[in-house]
Amino acid sequence: MENNDNYNNDDIKDTSEDLTEGHEDASKTGDAGKSDSSTYEDVCFVCRRPESKTGKMFRLPGGISICPDCMQKTMDTVSQFDYQGMLNSQMLPTDEELRKMLEEAEKNKNGGSTGMPNESSDKSAPHSPFPNFGFINLANLQGIGGIPNKQKLKKRSADSKPLIDIKNLPAPHKIKESLDKYVVGQEHAKKVMSVAVYNHYKRVATDSMDSIEIEKSNILLIGPTGSGKTYMVRTLAKLLDVPLAIADATSLTEAGYIGDDIESVISKLLAAADNDVEKAENGIVFIDEIDKIAKKENSNHRDVSGESVQQGMLKLLEGSEVEVPVGASSKGAMVPLATVNTRNILFICGGAFPGLDDIIKERLSKTNSIGFGGKLKDEYDKDPNILSKVTTEDIRKYGMIPEFIGRLPIVTTLQQLTKEMLIKIMVEPKNAILKQYQKLLELDEVKLEFADDALEEIAEKALELKTGARGLRSIIEDYMLDIMYEIPKDDNIGTVTITGDYLKGKGAPIIGMRGTEVQGITEKEEMPSEESAEKPGNSLAGGLT
Ligand code: ADP
Repeated sequence: MENNDNYNNDDIKDTSEDLTEGHEDASKTGDAGKSDSSTYEDVCFVCRRPESKTGKMFRLPGGISICPDCMQKTMDTVSQFDYQGMLNSQMLPTDEELRKMLEEAEKNKNGGSTGMPNESSDKSAPHSPFPNFGFINLANLQGIGGIPNKQKLKKRSADSKPLIDIKNLPAPHKIKESLDKYVVGQEHAKKVMSVAVYNHYKRVATDSMDSIEIEKSNILLIGPTGSGKTYMVRTLAKLLDVPLAIADATSLTEAGYIGDDIESVISKLLAAADNDVEKAENGIVFIDEIDKIAKKENSNHRDVSGESVQQGMLKLLEGSEVEVPVGASSKGAMVPLATVNTRNILFICGGAFPGLDDIIKERLSKTNSIGFGGKLKDEYDKDPNILSKVTTEDIRKYGMIPEFIGRLPIVTTLQQLTKEMLIKIMVEPKNAILKQYQKLLELDEVKLEFADDALEEIAEKALELKTGARGLRSIIEDYMLDIMYEIPKDDNIGTVTITGDYLKGKGAPIIGMRGTEVQGITEKEEMPSEESAEKPGNSLAGGLT
């Protein structure tokens, strides 16, 4: 999935202009935090508590911070220890010797020594307190620069603005309008999502001032593969400027088994929020392939990757405090933990649910097969949007446990993409794939065009692949390889038009030479035939036909 959808996921820009100023403000606060290390909070190297809890930390060289409590404990332990008689008065250095040693250590530091104070001064020092015994600089063990920023928790300054400002929350129609610029079709799903997201963040923003608790509106997206589920969520997160974590339900297992813990999704979200707990708590988690954790039927084994994962996710979906490792995917001895409350995190689950259509058809034909108006199961076979008739009962039958479905109150479906939609996806969105190719060739001052029949040809090929819009890129890339290879060879080429015939292997693209433009109309000349391809200046044809 990652490979195929990268062409427009990273490019969702210009979104702030579509939305209200409040979000710009929010994004500014977020951006400022990224570069300014002072917004990070130190955590104690020993007990992992942040500075806000422990009080002012002791800063040791190499970026290590120790809280007063742990420092006290360490000192107590050290003072009780006799070093097996090493600390007797004869071995202790005199004041003069100590001063010398310090000077020596200072010199070594500047000269790039290994951090062993005794290293070079051993021979000259009259008697070292601990012969053959050197202190290791802990910072050296941790690499240059000491502890990476990752292990620090972000703190929010007292005067920073709230992340979500209810007054500036874009209205659902505005959210949908912005979505329209990127996501083709899927009108119903876009509408449902816009309203759900609007309500969710309104709920988050009014949280403290209302005694009536508005329930969380987690979403279940059902739609065939490549129909834009992930893409829609990604776009939404960008539009709203909230952190997003995308996880695959197939990789999740019950805690303690091989695979990712369920809580690792929150860890991902925290990373996406730049380790800012407050920002993460308002983020979105998208769990893909949710149908893969359906309850397995007739299974005698413990279902660690199916039903148990659903069970394990219940408390996350509903809202609970989870301790997650900061800057790592699993809890380990040296990893600091942060507590994240999932109450305001919007969970969106997505899945293709193969076979769900049969369950729906079965139910529909059962209820409708009585009497004269009864319909046969086959009649629903023709319905391309059978998924939109889904009920929670069908999803339960599919293998999702009722408690799980109950925590995803909003269910919406995406349609199978049609040929027309695929063509639109190639051409219309702000960062449509063809626009990307056009831009690339524009840099070589070549105008690239696609004839209508070429677009149809590509869409038909994508339909055959049955991977929705996902196949488009690989198909186009295949076709464009020769063009991208040959065109820059000849500086005289001004326009290239890809035709359906070229894609079918029956002809060549139409090439327009530079300087043959008459009153804005490009004079196009057919690609030279095989025989003329040998002539100098026509080298392009050899590569393309
Ligand atoms: P899935 O539904 O399997 O999660 P994705 O959202 O990953 O599918 O879609 C794959 C790619 O196809 C996306 O990155 C996006 O570029 C494109 N795509 C799919 N559906 C649409 C759509 N409705 N509008 C625009 N692009 C789409």
